[in-house]
Amino acid sequence: MLSLFRQICDLLVPRTCPVCGKQLSAHEQYLCTRCLAGLPLTRLHLHDFNAMEQLFAGKTPIERAAGCFWYERANRYSQILQSIKYRKMPALGEWLARQYGRDLAAAGFFEGIDAVIPIPLHSSKLARRGYNQSLYIARGLASAASLPVLDVVTAAKPHSSQTRKGNYARYLNVRGIFAIAHPEKLAGKHVLLVDDVVTTGATLLSCAEMLHAHVDGIKISLATLAVARLG
Ligand SMILES: [Zn+2]
Repeated sequence: MLSLFRQICDLLVPRTCPVCGKQLSAHEQYLCTRCLAGLPLTRLHLHDFNAMEQLFAGKTPIERAAGCFWYERANRYSQILQSIKYRKMPALGEWLARQYGRDLAAAGFFEGIDAVIPIPLHSSKLARRGYNQSLYIARGLASAASLPVLDVVTAAKPHSSQTRKGNYARYLNVRGIFAIAHPEKLAGKHVLLVDDVVTTGATLLSCAEMLHAHVDGIKISLATLAVARLG
């Protein structure tokens, strides 16, 4: 019945793959089979001291870090992030994150982790966009790992777009913008901070620094949907 319902819906409003633009068939969800199979997976979670963990080395203590697929602006797969952030398709992020979460779970990535925390949007941006894409990605990962999502970090100040800034300017742009209302509730916990994409790591670094500064004995791991290839 679900399939028949979907076929009727597809006739009325054809769903398309955000990566290649092809119309999706009734059994395909969000991405076509071909684009899903060709997703440029990082497999970072299979490597010790991987490229994402190296971004934070010597800056703030991070237990583990991994992201699902490589992101390059010129690559058609960048359309996934565009759709999640700007085309009101956060459910695509949640769906992809749930599948990625199953891979992470199978590799033991979630061992010892108590909760998943999304990087927040400032309320003005949240009001404009209508949703926080990182919350959806956090929900997808958390459901695969049977972990709770704690939407407890807030962005105290709005920050401008990071995309046209250099590394240090990016860090200054987000430094000190995050806050947590009840830090004692996270004392001694191991949390997974989740964002849609990691580029220089400035946003995740700023949030991790705030948590280390305010929460006794916290351990922090990181997960994103996309990992930018720099240079
Ligand atoms: Zn496709």
